[in-house]
Amino acid sequence: MSTFQAPKGTYDLIPPDSAKYLAVREAISAPLKNSGYGYIETPGFEDVALFARGVGESTDIVSKEMYAFETKGGDKLALRPEGTASVLRAALEANLHKAGNLPVKLWYSGSYYRYERPQKGRYRHFSQVGAEAIGTEDPALDAELIILADQAYRSLGLRQFRILLNSLGDKECRPVYREALQTFLRDLDLDEETRRRIEINPLRVLDDKRPDVQKQLTGAPMLRDFLCDGCKAYHEEVRDLLTAAGVVYEDDEKLVRGLDYYTRTTFEFVHDGLGSQSAVGGGGRYDGLSEMIGGPALPSVGWALGVDRTVLALEAEGIEVDVPATTSVYAVPLGDEARRVLFGLVTELRKAGVATDFAFGGRGLKGAMKSANRSGARFTIVAGERDLAEGAVQLKDMESGEQEPVALDALVATVRARLA
Ligand code: ATP
Ligand code: MG
Repeated sequence: MSTFQAPKGTYDLIPPDSAKYLAVREAISAPLKNSGYGYIETPGFEDVALFARGVGESTDIVSKEMYAFETKGGDKLALRPEGTASVLRAALEANLHKAGNLPVKLWYSGSYYRYERPQKGRYRHFSQVGAEAIGTEDPALDAELIILADQAYRSLGLRQFRILLNSLGDKECRPVYREALQTFLRDLDLDEETRRRIEINPLRVLDDKRPDVQKQLTGAPMLRDFLCDGCKAYHEEVRDLLTAAGVVYEDDEKLVRGLDYYTRTTFEFVHDGLGSQSAVGGGGRYDGLSEMIGGPALPSVGWALGVDRTVLALEAEGIEVDVPATTSVYAVPLGDEARRVLFGLVTELRKAGVATDFAFGGRGLKGAMKSANRSGARFTIVAGERDLAEGAVQLKDMESGEQEPVALDALVATVRARLA
C-alpha cells in the first residue's frame, strides 16, 4: 500500500464493480438518447456566482457544501455541486434556445462535488446522469422526463422505488403560500437555525427530518390549498399523463426539494432499501432559473439521478446487472516465436471485434493458464514451436476443457463462429 489514500468521502471505482457503474450510466442514458436528448458536457468547475444565484444562497448546497476556491489569477470558482445551472448556462451561451427548436433537450453524465458528512450513499464526490428540457412549458414534457426515469430504473430491474410528486406553484401563488407558512412557522418552538430558515426559505422547514419538528408541523398550511388555477390544471395534466402511461406515483405535499429554483412540478425517486439516504434521484420544473442567471424567460424541466445510490439500490434488491465478460479469448504463447505470432493474432482478433487478452510478461504455462482462467475467457489459444511448425494453434474451450488444433489462417473465423 502507498502512503496515500483516496480523500475522505470519496472512493475509487475498481474492476469488477466499476462495470456496474458503467452499466447504470448506460441504462439511465439509453431512454434519453432514444427520446431526442442530445449529449452535453460542461466543465467540472464554474464561476461560483453561477451556483450562488442559480442554486440559491439559502440552500445547503451553496451555504455549506460547495468546494469554492480562488485561482492564482483571482477568479472565484467552485467545483460543480449539481448539473442544471451549468447546463442552462452552456445552452444560453451557445444560443441553443435561439435555434428555433424548442425545447432544447440535453442529457449529461459526470462527477459532482459536495462537502458533506460522508456516510453510506453520501459522498463528497459522486456521479449523476441528468436530463434537461429547456424552453417549453408543457405538462407532457414534465411527464416525459418522469416516464423516462421510471423506464431507466425498470430496465435495470429495480422494483422497490417510489415516485413522489408535488407541485410547488409559480410566481403568482407561491409567495402567498410562503407568507401563510411563515406566519404559521414563526409560532412554533424551533431552534435558531430553523428560525433563520423560516425567513429565508420556509418551504425547506417542511422537509425537516427531525420527529419533534415534524410533530409541530401538523396543521401547517399546505401549498396544495394555495395553488392558482393555472398551476392546478397543469399539475392535474401531469398526473393524468403519468397515469395513462402506467407510471405509479404518490402525491407528497411535503416534497419541496433542496434547490431554490423549482416551480410547479417537483418529484423525487426514493428507494426503500437504502436507509436514510433513500433519494436516488430527483428533479422538477425550474421556470425562473434562466432569468435568475441573466437569460431570457425559458421555462424548463429536468432531473438528475444519482449513479452511486442507484448501484446501492441494485445491491439492496440483489440485482446482478448483466455485465458481459470482458475477455472472450486469452492467448498463451510458449516461447519467443509463439509470442510474436500470437501477439499478431491477438491484434487480428481484436480488430474482428473479439475481446482478447494476452499472457504478458513471458510467464510459464501454469501461471499463464491461471490468468486465462481468471480472465473469464471462453477460449484459450495456446501455441508452442511444434504447433507453429504445423501452421496451427491449439484452441481450448474453457467450459468443456476440449482442445483442438486450428490452422492459423482459419483462427479468426473459427473463433467468431464458436462465439456467435
Ligand atoms: P439528499 O436529500 O439525499 O441530500 P439532494 O436533494 O441533495 O439529496 P439532488 O441535489 O437532488 O440531491 O441530487 C440528485 C441525486 O444525486 C440524489 O437523489 C442522489 O441520488 C444524488 N446525490 C446527491 N448528493 C449526493 C451525495 N453527496 N453523494 C451521493 N449521491 C448524491
Ligand atoms: Mg443534499
